[in-house]
Amino acid sequence: METGRTLRESSLRVTGWRAWVVTDTAEGPRLGSVLHDLLWQPGGPVVAECRRDDDPFATPIGPHPVPAAECNCGFHAVRDPVDALSYARGRDEPGTVCRILGEVVVWGHVLETEAGWRASHAYPARLYVPDAEIAAALATYSVPVCGSPSSQTCTATPSPSELRSRIWRIAAPS
Ligand SMILES: [Zn+2]
Repeated sequence: METGRTLRESSLRVTGWRAWVVTDTAEGPRLGSVLHDLLWQPGGPVVAECRRDDDPFATPIGPHPVPAAECNCGFHAVRDPVDALSYARGRDEPGTVCRILGEVVVWGHVLETEAGWRASHAYPARLYVPDAEIAAALATYSVPVCGSPSSQTCTATPSPSELRSRIWRIAAPS
């Protein structure tokens, strides 16, 4: 996802938008990154690694913190859901069930960019899943799963305080 030029470093925990692929695994449907071969497991954060050295078209820049201003690594989150929408469509790998949009909380080493953030740690905060069966399966992430950003009803919605404590546990700096 393109989030634009890096503006400043931040240590804040922020919530933005992103797209995921939903992939069939032996354990059931799991969220995966759209551009990389990375599964997001329930119950703990994903931690970013730089894949620049695997990219034959990228100029090597040597060892650097993830994310780095001069690189494009880290988990991307955008401020405006419209910026994430184009990534919710695309050519899908075998095993991909669908793509979804959602809100994501990012923290750790965070860079604020023109359109959002890039960060070292991430976990879903709220998922928008039109298909009821997939929505039920994704309740395993213990975050609200809603039909659409405009719908009032969410399945598997814990109380706000319970939710806050769950996300807090997952996102607590260790
Ligand atoms: Zn990098």
